[in-house]
Amino acid sequence: MTTMRVAQIPSAGAPFEIVERPIPEVAPGMVRIKVAACGVCHSDMFAKEGAFPGLTYPLVPGHEVVGVVDAVGEGVTRLAPGQRVGVGWNGGYCSHCNPCRGGDFFACEKESHTITGTTYDGGYAEYMVAHSSAVAVMPEGIDALDAAPLLCAGLTPFNALRNCGAQAGDTVAILGIGGLGHLGVQYAKKMGFRTVAIARGADKAELALRMGADHYIDSQAGDPAAALTELGKARAIIATVTHGPAMTAVMPGLAPRGSLMVLGAAESLEVNPGMMIGGSYTVRGWYSGTAIDAEATLAFSALNGVRPMNEVFPLEDAEAAYQHMMSGKARFRVVLSMT
Ligand SMILES: [Zn+2]
Ligand SMILES: [Zn+2]
Repeated sequence: MTTMRVAQIPSAGAPFEIVERPIPEVAPGMVRIKVAACGVCHSDMFAKEGAFPGLTYPLVPGHEVVGVVDAVGEGVTRLAPGQRVGVGWNGGYCSHCNPCRGGDFFACEKESHTITGTTYDGGYAEYMVAHSSAVAVMPEGIDALDAAPLLCAGLTPFNALRNCGAQAGDTVAILGIGGLGHLGVQYAKKMGFRTVAIARGADKAELALRMGADHYIDSQAGDPAAALTELGKARAIIATVTHGPAMTAVMPGLAPRGSLMVLGAAESLEVNPGMMIGGSYTVRGWYSGTAIDAEATLAFSALNGVRPMNEVFPLEDAEAAYQHMMSGKARFRVVLSMT
């Protein structure tokens, strides 16, 4: 076989088209992956709508990629054909630019392979080629469809939780019970935090508790910060929502020196300086993570039984899958299956 099917965006804003392309060659330092599954993430919107500077089309999105190593380029020693692997948002790093030299690999300035499925072709395809530094090794005991969303929707809250400053037994709140939040609640509980889920509406309570939350706050039923204060305040709030005012509303529920970890790309966020000073609060943006963080996410998930709730579509239905994800009606992650 010398060709593969891909779901490509022909130009910014245009619908997906399914086309045959030659299976790409694998250059030095690169790894070719036979894709088994790829999650459909809200951030695929940057590629789909051209909402990112300097993108080239046609473009294949997809940054929640799971598959098997098919071929490795010259100089790649860490990976070998046959290995089960995953690729997330971080498309690799160069190890030579100033951010890399400072250990900030997520902020690598080499743009050719910075963002999977955005600055280069991603996983809405039967094969993809990734920089070896972007490739995470998969553990046993987790299947491809379950693992795909963990590469972005799982990795992001997992990595934020383990860097939020809270320790086992502390109270941590997860704001928003969607794609990231339903995983964030599972991670928080299994990391040993007293876990509070906050979302809009009483109907999310049952799900939040089933995912492992110790408490549920309906932010529409009253002041969510007051409800969080009644529970003893949170050492950290992991904000997965994309609405700035929803983040602002919960901040007074932070414990002294507490952190608001911002994961959701809201347009703007208002904070009260007096409140920040009084509580010595931190507001911190959190980038998802690199391949080593993805490996930790996958290993933790396999070990502790953390799984996403998925709706699966075949690759041919990429347009329908993307529109379903954008509608906000998906419960909770949309995944493309290549087989
Ligand atoms: Zn994503
Ligand atoms: Zn770099």
